[in-house]
Amino acid sequence: MDKSSRLKVALQKSGRLTENSLDLLARCGLKYSRGKDQLMCYGENMPLDVLFVRDDDIPDLVQQDVCDLGIVGLNVIEEKRLSFQTRGVSPLFEQVMVLDYGKCRLSIAVPDGTEYKDASSLRGKRIATTYPNILARFLRERDVQAEVVTMSGAVEIAPRLGRADFICDLVSTGSTLIANHLSEAETVMESQAAIISTPVPVTMEKQEWIHRLTMRIDGVQQVKE
Ligand code: ATP
Ligand code: ZN
Repeated sequence: MDKSSRLKVALQKSGRLTENSLDLLARCGLKYSRGKDQLMCYGENMPLDVLFVRDDDIPDLVQQDVCDLGIVGLNVIEEKRLSFQTRGVSPLFEQVMVLDYGKCRLSIAVPDGTEYKDASSLRGKRIATTYPNILARFLRERDVQAEVVTMSGAVEIAPRLGRADFICDLVSTGSTLIANHLSEAETVMESQAAIISTPVPVTMEKQEWIHRLTMRIDGVQQVKE
């Protein structure tokens, strides 16, 4: 089988989704060897290779057809979809299935002691986030005008630095918020890991492997339930 007929799957290189995603592929029966540069894994018993990248790059790699599949959080997928839309580009990736890990929520959090009734409490305020498009939609749908401060990380320290009044960030247990004297006020979006695929027609052989893989994932997830 030549190289182009092997499925290329993008996974997060190092982070919250990495271990679960590799574990999922292993449970689907994939045996792989890791490349010397640690950037790829090569399937030994399936025509499937894994490319390790930053999670934020995964939708783009699938969009550009560099990878056939990608595993990434719904939060990243939705943010990318909206950012493409605002630039007038149609998103060329489709959500194939959601997975049972990476569960978290994108929430508005407020400094301890700050009053928050509902989204109207955000009116005229500054809100720091790494998800400006999802937050903008949330505000638009509630008819709230507020200033969105886009940060690439460490959003939770923005109120202490005086950069924002509130934040909109990912939360799972809430311990990071507590450590930063913030409390969760409202959920903007629920998230979990999901598989996306390129809608560019792939070969029949690849299509069959995608089908086989998603069937196996379905089976693995049902066993765990
Ligand atoms: P990268 O270096 O790949 O850009 P990152 O710092 O953006 O990594 P992680 O913190 O590893 O990403 O989170 C990856 C994904 O895990 C998130 O986009 C989200 O879908 C999911 N996730 C689950 N729980 C949490 C949480 N408590 N905080 C952040 N992300 C979470
Ligand atoms: Zn990231």
